[in-house]
Amino acid sequence: MDEYIERLKDGSLKLYALEKELPPEEAVRVRRAFVEGETGTALPKVGSFTIGIDRVVKRNIENMIGTVQVPLGVAGPLRVKGEYADGTYYLPLATTEGALVASVNRGCSLLTRAGGADVRIMRDGMTRAPVFAARDVVHARDVAAWVESHTAEIREIAESTTKHGELREAVTYVAGTNVFVRLEFDTKDAMGMNMVTIAGQKVGELIERETGARLVATSGNMCTDKKPAAINLVRGRGKTVVAGVRLTDAMVADLLKTDAETLFEVNYRKNLVGSARAASFGFNAHAANIVAAMFIACGQDPAHVVEGSTAITTVDRVDGGVYVSVTLPSLPVGTVGGGTGVDTQQECLAMLGVAGGGDPPGAHAKALGEIVAAGVLAGELSLLGALAAQHLARAHQEHGRG
Ligand code: NAP
Repeated sequence: MDEYIERLKDGSLKLYALEKELPPEEAVRVRRAFVEGETGTALPKVGSFTIGIDRVVKRNIENMIGTVQVPLGVAGPLRVKGEYADGTYYLPLATTEGALVASVNRGCSLLTRAGGADVRIMRDGMTRAPVFAARDVVHARDVAAWVESHTAEIREIAESTTKHGELREAVTYVAGTNVFVRLEFDTKDAMGMNMVTIAGQKVGELIERETGARLVATSGNMCTDKKPAAINLVRGRGKTVVAGVRLTDAMVADLLKTDAETLFEVNYRKNLVGSARAASFGFNAHAANIVAAMFIACGQDPAHVVEGSTAITTVDRVDGGVYVSVTLPSLPVGTVGGGTGVDTQQECLAMLGVAGGGDPPGAHAKALGEIVAAGVLAGELSLLGALAAQHLARAHQEHGRG
């Protein structure tokens, strides 16, 4: 140990190179000891973990020194009536926000009592949009026209990079001399960002070769990855999922302690008018809370909470009650690749019956998307109900600060 620390100190060994000389567990231990010395901070908790790291240090993290642990709770049982997820589930929620799990749990009870959440996937496609520099606007139009008339060639080169990915469309957008080609793929059970980036690079090179436009970057931000963007809200990115439930007046009174008219008004004035006035992309109460907690638990890329937060919640008055729905236009989820293989995250996916590749491929990721959407519906119902019943402050006091 001392010998490695000395070499790290004198710069003859780089922190990132430890795995080249030592087995992963040992490399992580030496790196942590070095950082403890340099920062004067003991890290016994960070250094105490159960996940196997052989794969993690190769695929998920560089310069690993340990783990942080996030408390994991469950909400449920939740009856989900999707096309891919049809059953009763306990939702794994990793969070430090007191009152969140209790709130989702209340929504799950209500949904389950109402017979379950109907869930459907409206669209499914992960995107990458390379940007090209054209000579002038005439050339830009020609580049776009070439792309539109060579879809088969683009598909062939894109799909040569992947066994599972299938190109769905290549849509062009021009801004002056800038040409963006938004490539959308069915990525099956993978969330797909690496998959579509690799394919997008090959497609970019083909377009550059054939049109003379310069490929500037494989991602030109019209994808749009991990930034709030209207294009994701309008066109979708990842799974576009809807979930809905009909609640009778008696259910609203018994479980939410409010009435249909108040629930409708809170949703209208807060989620719809308030969000419009703020020019928000999220017409919902707290979809990001459920998306974040389930994403962290299930090994999803937490930065995609940006996309997942753009949900729209509706409350319709119907005969004898309300129909409540959530629409998530952009939910990037996967059950293979990325962080889904980390041991604890894989256990959470297994709890939902969606760990690994589905049969047929894509079925597990779609099921996960449906379950997350049902969880968001549970969260929306509970918070809207709490606001309607003016119970919010009391619930926070009891669960968060008790
Ligand atoms: P990945 O771990 O890079 O790749 C998953 C691979 O699993 C697929 O490419 C596929 O190989 C294979 N596979 C096996 N069974 C499959 C099945 N049933 N369905 C689909 N694929 C299957 O994962 P990814 O989802 O493409 O990318 C996720 C990672 O990208 C995350 O770690 C995320 O943080 C990161 N990320 C990357 C970028 C970027 O720009 N590169 C941006 C944002 C996030 P084949 O392709 O050969 O079929």
